[in-house]
Amino acid sequence: MKRNLMKALSLLLAVVLIASIGILPANAASNAKYQAKHPIVLVHGLAGFGQYDDLNSIIQYWGYTSGSIDKYIEKYGNECYEASVGPISSAWDRACELYAQLTGTVTDYGAYHAAVHGHDRYGRDYTAHGYGKLMKKEWNASNPINLVAHSFGGVTCRLLIQLLADGSKAEYNYAVKTGTLGNLSPLFTGGKRNWVYSLTTLAAPSNGSTVCEALPNIVNFVGELMTVGSKALSVTSLKGVYDFQLEHFGITAKKTDTLDSLYKKIVKSGFMDHNDNAFADLALDKAIDMNKDLKLQSSVYYFSYYGDRTTRTILGTYKPTVRMWAPFQISGAAMCTYNGTTAGYYYNGYGANKTKVSVTKTKANTATWKRSDGMVPVESGQYPFHYENGKRVDDAHTSASVGVTAKKTGVWYVMPVVDADHLTFCGGVLNETVSSVHSFYNGVMQNIVNCGG
Ligand SMILES: [Zn+2]
Repeated sequence: MKRNLMKALSLLLAVVLIASIGILPANAASNAKYQAKHPIVLVHGLAGFGQYDDLNSIIQYWGYTSGSIDKYIEKYGNECYEASVGPISSAWDRACELYAQLTGTVTDYGAYHAAVHGHDRYGRDYTAHGYGKLMKKEWNASNPINLVAHSFGGVTCRLLIQLLADGSKAEYNYAVKTGTLGNLSPLFTGGKRNWVYSLTTLAAPSNGSTVCEALPNIVNFVGELMTVGSKALSVTSLKGVYDFQLEHFGITAKKTDTLDSLYKKIVKSGFMDHNDNAFADLALDKAIDMNKDLKLQSSVYYFSYYGDRTTRTILGTYKPTVRMWAPFQISGAAMCTYNGTTAGYYYNGYGANKTKVSVTKTKANTATWKRSDGMVPVESGQYPFHYENGKRVDDAHTSASVGVTAKKTGVWYVMPVVDADHLTFCGGVLNETVSSVHSFYNGVMQNIVNCGG
């Protein structure tokens, strides 16, 4: 095992060195322009990982091939943490895990949610006796955080912010009904809207992704993406390092499991039948319906970045450019040609609690739905929308440039489109330079610093 780790590490270093040839070292001198008052918490996307994961010591999600992004941010005197939420878990489960990691508590998915979705109420223990707290200092309104979320981390963070602000009526009512109010997680009681100072989303599928509608089997595709990605980084054969954090569904990994074998085991286990996973939350109908309850908070600054690596052909159609990472050419091309309308419903809950939820259908046939970074359409990366009585309602938003001094809370400051594919945002620089990734994060930090974060 150790020899495998060393081999992988050497190969990784070689990749990083090759990627860095001819590039001047980034200017990491202390610079107040990039030094935030409050901690930065990075929240990964689908199939991602963070600092609790063994894998992170071999390959970092935040800086796959660019070198550690959190270390880069820390060089300016910032506190920076990388959360490790369930790679294919639902936004709800991930929000609960994020709360537990930041507060140093036992993960509580909520008694009501657990009953409806057929899994355990409690998950991993992040108290001092368990995995331990992510942040050094106590997290509260006097010590708020700046959330920086990649991809599905976006909805994870928006749901966390919503629960902090208003709690969960469903969990509260269930606790009253069952006489267990004293046992209700503080995450569901609300009143913590000032615990988050800002949210920056990076290529977040805030209205879902047409990749779920356009590809016949998105679950298999993501499995293949993970395998291809880890093969490229020479870590595919490593055993026992992939952590899907699904014990609450009764799914545990063995030390002999590889990424491939474990993923197949999960798909076969019936995990998908619970309608409580990232794939369900990423389908357009459910993603847009969830937005109804995810309100912009008047105390939080919001920034969004989105990528487009497609081009318009002379026929007026769209296709990925050659600079898009090879595996995303498949998903990107499928999204470019997708012309459909959604089903207008999704399923919620498990077993006897399974219900069909009817929603307004979405016609995903405009250029902004077709153009993407290979995983997330432009229409979804900019800002969320939802429907009220069949009429589309957009979140408040304004176009802005990088390094903006945001004056308003509760409004999305939408950054100019980035020529990037989906992994470029978290430092996958196979088609990029290390300095361009660093320069991108300087911009992210500047936005946060300028609004007082
Ligand atoms: Zn759940």
